[in-house]
Amino acid sequence: MKLTVVGCSGSFPSAESACSSYLVEADGFRLLLDMGNGALGELQRHCGLYDLDAIFLSHLHADHCIDMCAYFVARYYRHDGGPCPPIPVYGPEGTEHRLTTAYADTPTASSMSEVFDFHTVKPSTFDIGPFTVHTERVRHPVEAYGIRVEHAGKSLTYSGDTGVTEALEGLARDTDLFLCEAAFTHGKENIPDLHLNGREAGETAARAGARRLVLTHIPPWTDPAVNLADAREVFDGPVDLAVPRATYEI
Ligand SMILES: [Zn+2]
Ligand SMILES: [Zn+2]
Repeated sequence: MKLTVVGCSGSFPSAESACSSYLVEADGFRLLLDMGNGALGELQRHCGLYDLDAIFLSHLHADHCIDMCAYFVARYYRHDGGPCPPIPVYGPEGTEHRLTTAYADTPTASSMSEVFDFHTVKPSTFDIGPFTVHTERVRHPVEAYGIRVEHAGKSLTYSGDTGVTEALEGLARDTDLFLCEAAFTHGKENIPDLHLNGREAGETAARAGARRLVLTHIPPWTDPAVNLADAREVFDGPVDLAVPRATYEI
C-alpha cells in the first residue's frame, strides 16, 4: 500500500501544510484518513476530486474534518452529471450532525447523506475496500480513534490525536509504519489525555515494536527538530517528520 501525506500541520494550517489528511492506496482503492483545514485543495495534487473511495475521520475537531464541508459542495453541486453517488464516511458518533451544522445553520441533513454514506466508528475490526482496519479509542477530549490499516501482510497505524495510552501501543504492535502525532514538546507542555510529545511518540513506537516512525500533527508554534531529536533518543528505528507530498510504500 502507498501512503501520501496530504496535510500534516497540527491544530491549524501552516504556510507550508494543510491540516491532517493522509491518502492510503492499494489495488486502485483510495482511502483518505482525515480531511482537516486546507486538505481538499492539496488532495487534488494527488488524485482527482471524485477519485476517493472512502473516508475515515479520526475525530470531529476541525483540524481533522472541516474540509468535509467543502467536499460536500464539490460532490453535491458537481457541475457535470449532478450529485455524486455516496461514498462511505467512517467517523465517531454524531459525525453527520457535526458536519451538517458546520456547513449551514439551517441543516439539510438529507442532502449531506445523499453524497456521504455515514458509518459510526466503534472500537472494532472491519473491512474498507481491500483493507482490514482496526479501530481503538484513544485519549483526547472528544471521542477519538486511532486506526490500523492492513493490506497484503503490511500495516500502517495512525494515532489520530491522543495522549499516552496503551490502546495506541496495542494498535501499533509490530506495525510497518507508525504515523504518530507529536503536537507537544517534551518538558514544555504537559496536559494529560490531549497530545503526545516527540519523546512519548518515540516511547510508544519502541514499546509497540513499530518498524518505522513518522511524526505528524506538529503545530506551527512547535519546533519539529526538537520533537524529532526527542523521538530518536528513545526509538532505535528510522524516524521521519511528515511533510506534505511525502510518499511511503508500505
Ligand atoms: Zn488535531
Ligand atoms: Zn483533536
